[in-house]
Amino acid sequence: MVQQMPLKQEREEKKNRINALVLNCYLNLRFAANINPMLNKFFHFILFLFVAQLSVAQSTDDVIRSLKNDVTYLADDKLEGRETGTKGAELAADYISKRFAELGLQPKGDNATFFQVFNQKPKGVHGETLPDSVKEISVKNVIGFIDNGAATTVVIGAHYDHLGYGDEGSLNTGEKAIHNGADDNASGTSALLQIAKDLKGKNANNNYLLIAFSGEEKGLWGSNYYSKNTTIPVTSINYMINMDMVGRLAENKLAIYGTGTSPVWNDLLKKVIPDTIKLTKTESGIGPSDHTSFYLKDIPVLHFFTGQHADYHKPSDDVDKINFSGIVAVINFIEKVITELNDDDKLAFTKTKEEDKASTPAFKVTLGVMPDYMFSRIGMQISAAREGKPAANAGLIAGDIVIKMGKTNVADMQTYMQALSLYKVGDKVKVVVLRDGKKKIVKVVF
Ligand SMILES: [Zn+2]
Repeated sequence: MVQQMPLKQEREEKKNRINALVLNCYLNLRFAANINPMLNKFFHFILFLFVAQLSVAQSTDDVIRSLKNDVTYLADDKLEGRETGTKGAELAADYISKRFAELGLQPKGDNATFFQVFNQKPKGVHGETLPDSVKEISVKNVIGFIDNGAATTVVIGAHYDHLGYGDEGSLNTGEKAIHNGADDNASGTSALLQIAKDLKGKNANNNYLLIAFSGEEKGLWGSNYYSKNTTIPVTSINYMINMDMVGRLAENKLAIYGTGTSPVWNDLLKKVIPDTIKLTKTESGIGPSDHTSFYLKDIPVLHFFTGQHADYHKPSDDVDKINFSGIVAVINFIEKVITELNDDDKLAFTKTKEEDKASTPAFKVTLGVMPDYMFSRIGMQISAAREGKPAANAGLIAGDIVIKMGKTNVADMQTYMQALSLYKVGDKVKVVVLRDGKKKIVKVVF
């Protein structure tokens, strides 16, 4: 049955009310028990309830404390943004491997260690081969295993690398600074460690392989390499769950990608979704994170994501903005999925329509905005507009909802991309947006 997850405050209030009530009973009964010894048993039962209630509340606090510890360490300036191949990434890998060892996971990297290490040479921005002077980068995945002696294994993954000082992939417009990546993806890494802890001795019809990937920000390097160099038989992998950016749950909006990669996903998610979560589902198994590498090996995948925000790929993606109760909600959701599937056979795989490839046209121009992928009304809402790019130059700002470009009505991301594909550099186009509910027309120059 679906368990409700009330907001933290509600939960706190409820807890306090119950505690006050139980304490009241306790005091009355203690008095009565002193007079009538027959009440003693009942009195002890009430005392037991009181203690049990306290310990349940304590455990959620413990989880949050542990998540906070992990994110705080990984997103500290000391790790300098965990760019693949740097000292900071090395420190992060060491930390994760120590936590894996502490949790009693079995090493499942190279040579009975937690690490899988390989070198990769970066490619140019358009995929071209770079000259010999460009050095290879050392990439390190951290891999732990829960061996239940089962025939199938569930892979749970989260990337731990980030952008370092933001030389590549940053949306920072200010001075060069450390990109701590608290949400991207210290949040997913902390959730990975918690799930590893929770799964020990539970749901034993699968084994569990926990992977903290590196090289994700460089182009899914770690997961791509792992999917081609698995340390367990690839045919034994049942399904893969990816967590990338799960630290900013807002208004309980959660996105799940890959829901078309197995025929079971839709019904299953409907069954286990907490009442409070507002879900956005995307069928495609191809997306901007590590689940893509497993999907391409015909493995069913799900990617959990709490949404874009103004600090995405900026130095301001810091620990103080993380919603830790939100991470707990995501963890509970994922654990329900795993529990629900424990008695099932290996999942069937289905190929999804390649929304990102086949039906997405090629672009010659860009508006220079970051769309809000969680936006569910008509149009494309801008969550950030980059300075000096066409949209910002035309006066468009975060929050504007694009509803028409030229002659094309923009209903969603798909029609937005189709509209965008019609233009080339130098073209001018009238764009209609909604700002504070009012229509506004601007002229964009590409
Ligand atoms: Zn990222």
